[in-house]
Amino acid sequence: MRIHCDVTDQRLPGVGNAPHLGLDRVMKPGQVFDLTHTLHTGFPLWPGDAPFEMTEVASVADDGFEMNELRYWEHVGTHVDAPSHRAADGLSTDLIPAADLVAPLVVIDISGRAADDADTVLTVGDIADWERANGCVPNRAFVAMNSGWDVRLGTPGAFVNLDSEGIAHAPGFSAEAVRFLVRERDIVGLGVDTLSIDCSSSREFGAHSALLSAGRYCVEALANLSAVPAIGALVVVGAPTHRGGSGGPCRVLAIVDADLG
Ligand SMILES: [Zn+2]
Repeated sequence: MRIHCDVTDQRLPGVGNAPHLGLDRVMKPGQVFDLTHTLHTGFPLWPGDAPFEMTEVASVADDGFEMNELRYWEHVGTHVDAPSHRAADGLSTDLIPAADLVAPLVVIDISGRAADDADTVLTVGDIADWERANGCVPNRAFVAMNSGWDVRLGTPGAFVNLDSEGIAHAPGFSAEAVRFLVRERDIVGLGVDTLSIDCSSSREFGAHSALLSAGRYCVEALANLSAVPAIGALVVVGAPTHRGGSGGPCRVLAIVDADLG
């Protein structure tokens, strides 16, 4: 049986064809960038954390369906930190407002400096430089640090970058920059391409405290930030929804030239 459908007359239920929302457009492959690393048992870990495990509990051959049991600490792979990760009364991952998970994407590149200094931080001065080149960080944006760190995944040990005393070294945000973005730019959240929004050698965790205690979230270990523009993309964060969770692995997509205005 054939069902005739006139594609020029499609309507999405409840919203008409809503051309003002871009819903009449189909995403082209080059418009959607995956900012997510593949999660696997060998993914680099924050020192002391347990590795991701996946065990098959059913297979198509034996059971008709494939299914795996997953075992992991929440903060593994490309993952969300919910406010409750650092703030005792903070929101858990299931309670992060959906509207905060779709936002204009701002990418601030400090990869040149990070190549020479693994302990460098993204500062208020870096934000000022970015704004001189790109205009003001829009309100309710998701601001990501691109330190060029994701390419280190190809070199064993280079991503966590432990020193002889077991201390990790990788770039992050300064606490002052986070406070500025929260107070002066009203961001929804932050992202980094390293394992921590704080400089990894920090023991203050000032960026985590400033962000999560203000009720904002972050995504750590983002991929492909060099592939997306400094401004102009829309980010979609597929945060996990387990009740009471402090975060967890997520899928993050950037839509470029979405024409959603
Ligand atoms: Zn985390």
